[in-house]
Amino acid sequence: MDLFLFFKNMPKIELHVHVEGAVNAETYFRLAQENNVKLPVSSFDEWQKFFEFKDFAHFIKVYITAVSSIKKPSDYSFLVEEFYKNQKEQKIIYTEAYLSASFLVDKFDDDEILDALALGMKTGEEKYGVKVNFIPDIARNIPDSQDRVLELILKGKERGIFIGIGLGGMESGFPPEIFTETYKKAKHSGLHLLVHAGEAAGPESIWGAINSLGAERIGHGIRCLEDEKLVAYLKENNLHIEVSPVSNYCLKLIDSNSPHPIKNMLELGLNCSVNSDDPAMFSTNLTEQYVLLTEQGFSVDQLIQLNKNALAASFLNEEEKLHYLGELIQWENTLK
Ligand SMILES: [Zn+2]
Repeated sequence: MDLFLFFKNMPKIELHVHVEGAVNAETYFRLAQENNVKLPVSSFDEWQKFFEFKDFAHFIKVYITAVSSIKKPSDYSFLVEEFYKNQKEQKIIYTEAYLSASFLVDKFDDDEILDALALGMKTGEEKYGVKVNFIPDIARNIPDSQDRVLELILKGKERGIFIGIGLGGMESGFPPEIFTETYKKAKHSGLHLLVHAGEAAGPESIWGAINSLGAERIGHGIRCLEDEKLVAYLKENNLHIEVSPVSNYCLKLIDSNSPHPIKNMLELGLNCSVNSDDPAMFSTNLTEQYVLLTEQGFSVDQLIQLNKNALAASFLNEEEKLHYLGELIQWENTLK
């Protein structure tokens, strides 16, 4: 069996992917040309080579260079539309996607960027027929942006553009507790609460995400395994963990010769899903995460279950969940 083709054809649900890290080299190259931004290369081929994942330091360089090509609000219409296209190509029928909001509020006027995002979403959904809900996130290393980010999210929520608030960026040195007030306000406004935790920092960061921020799902969370009490808590409360295997290897959180800890997490009864995080910048995609896990001993049935876990942990309403579950089951029936 061609596993890549098999998982490519599986209708998939994704809960942890960043728009800016998911659009490809070509999209950024087009934006750079359009905006007269000088890239540190002399051709598209060179840009594609530069864009490929090499190591963490280079990843940061690529990220900064790529987003420097974004100049006008309408660039985000294009970026978002391209994002829908990518998800469709991978047969990801429903996505909850993060947007770098600290970057947005720093660069653009709220109403202009919301108009641009709304246009990209409308066009993307019409053209590609997949559904995406967006969650802007605060870069925790820019804590001063949190009030502005919340303001933007609330305006967007009113327009039906955003469903929650996220917290990403550098985890070490920027604990969840710095964002308690913002998350309290977000909760009162009916936003879903997401937090990256337990990736670069240890269990205390996940505890903070739960106790200080009221996180409804944990991004990454793999370092929960260092704390038995935390594992028991996560299990008891069925708190979902958005796991991104390739990202963890790329950022050297896991040794390349070791199996991914998601295996242990599932054996301990934790609720996890499989995600791609920054797929274009890690030179990967969602399908490859599934293939990697089969290579590490997961059965096809286990992986189909992880996809269903993502659907169950999504913020869709019950009716929508049933609709998508129907699509997943329909595909499973074609396998018999
Ligand atoms: Zn992430």
